[in-house]
Amino acid sequence: MNGGVTAPVSPDEASRLRALRSYEILDTPSEAAFDRIVGLAARLLHAPMARLTFVDRDRQWCKAASGGGASSTSRDGGFCARASLGDAPLVVNDAREDPRFSENPEVSGEPHVRFYAGVPLRTPDGHKLGCLCVLDQAPRAVSAEQLGVLESLAGIVMDELELRRNQQILEKQAYAVDAALQEAERNRHLFERIAHTSPEVIYVLELASRKNVYANRNAAALLGYTQEEIEVLGDGLPATIIHPQDLPAVLGHFSEFDTMSDDGYTELTYRVRGVDGEYRWLRARENVFSRYRDKRPKEILGIAADITELKRIEARLAELATTDELTGIANQRAFRERLNQLVAEGERGRAFVLCMVDADHFKRINDTLGHPIGDRVLVHLAAALAREVRRVDQVARYGGEEFAVLLVDVDEATGASLAERLRRAVEAIETPVRVSASFGVAAYSRGMSAAELVEAADGALYAAKQQGRNRVATAVGARATKARARAELPPQPRSPGASDRSAPPPPPRPRQAPPRG
Ligand code: GH3
Ligand code: MG
Ligand code: MG
Repeated sequence: MNGGVTAPVSPDEASRLRALRSYEILDTPSEAAFDRIVGLAARLLHAPMARLTFVDRDRQWCKAASGGGASSTSRDGGFCARASLGDAPLVVNDAREDPRFSENPEVSGEPHVRFYAGVPLRTPDGHKLGCLCVLDQAPRAVSAEQLGVLESLAGIVMDELELRRNQQILEKQAYAVDAALQEAERNRHLFERIAHTSPEVIYVLELASRKNVYANRNAAALLGYTQEEIEVLGDGLPATIIHPQDLPAVLGHFSEFDTMSDDGYTELTYRVRGVDGEYRWLRARENVFSRYRDKRPKEILGIAADITELKRIEARLAELATTDELTGIANQRAFRERLNQLVAEGERGRAFVLCMVDADHFKRINDTLGHPIGDRVLVHLAAALAREVRRVDQVARYGGEEFAVLLVDVDEATGASLAERLRRAVEAIETPVRVSASFGVAAYSRGMSAAELVEAADGALYAAKQQGRNRVATAVGARATKARARAELPPQPRSPGASDRSAPPPPPRPRQAPPRG
């Protein structure tokens, strides 16, 4: 291109080019600030032409020119490409006489350059991006003072470039901040819409003050507060609206957050009181929402579902599963549960008594008065038994016309006298027909299983039936009889009014089918 004269490149060309790109100056339109500097260089150095040139990978690109000149020329053989290599200014007094430039098209052709003086544009890191130069069509010399002026102007160019770059960085930062703000606003809006639309209760609680610092619309609606009211419900929120029975668990679980990671959570179920005084069941998941500088948990976020209806259905199902349909008292399933529980307690020393009750000659009632009357008698019987026992005791329908009564914290003798009270209560029933029942009482003793206790009470009941019905018999007699039988002792004559000592050991009694509707 220029007679094979190739401009050498700096050893650090790659980072020089990176530095040049960072100013984002290449191929930008002309700017007054640079035009003025170039004009000033021409005037101060009395030159007809001046240029501000940047040296790209393989071209020199002119940002500003005074007195005309190509906007972009090849880097090879260019004055500026060479000037921007050295640290000192490049001065060519007569290019036609200089073998480095004599074949340069700008020397051999338009605009017939003879004189050139250029100073490099140096970045603070020492990279040379291009040069500021003056040119003349006549050969001439330049003074050291004039070169000093040119270097000062090059310094101003660099200051201007630095300023522009800082300005661009600031603009980019401002843009990024603006974008981040927009994103934050969008997220805030998204959260608000989710919280507003969610069927769940969403809240934020400050652990130290136990203050409710946020609650969504649904939280307010569930409890019957307005959004404003629930937000200022404030201090001691748990203590004021959480069910007293659930409060220890709710307060106790706060310590779980001390060791909880950011993606961990805890689940709990508790009741909260609404303005109407009614409690609602919440099933909540809670996690750490914010932390102090030292990472201790500061606030927790809770998302909870209202499970009041579910709890009501659960309770109803449990009731149905444990209640006898005809009489409304506990059914055999509930009886077995309570019995097993008492056997466990009995192992630890709690005294209790099982009393099996069987209506006497009930078949006759059905046969003479009809099944519906029989049903009504069973209802009265259950009610009479239930009325006589304490809250801690249990009366259950064992099946058919049989009932089981669990009497706690009593021994067999006391159990027998309580059973006697029950017997009299049954006897006192007058509507729809008089009725009586037989009672078999057995006390629990350590080591006994539930089945063994039922068997013992059954044995006593059998004895009561044997002795003529409408009476109470205890298991002590049945056991004594068994022992005597084993020792092959002759049966003792029975003393009147005492126990059932003479009753033979009971054969297994066939259990009746479950009551018919
Ligand atoms: P015992 O004095 O020996 O106990 O005589 P019983 O007639 O009461 O005993 P049995 O076992 O021979 O008959 C029990 C009767 O109870 C037969 C059955 O029809 C009746 N029964 C069982 N369940 C129900 C019920 O739910 N409603 C009515 N009305 N009768 C029932
Ligand atoms: Mg029976
Ligand atoms: Mg009966």
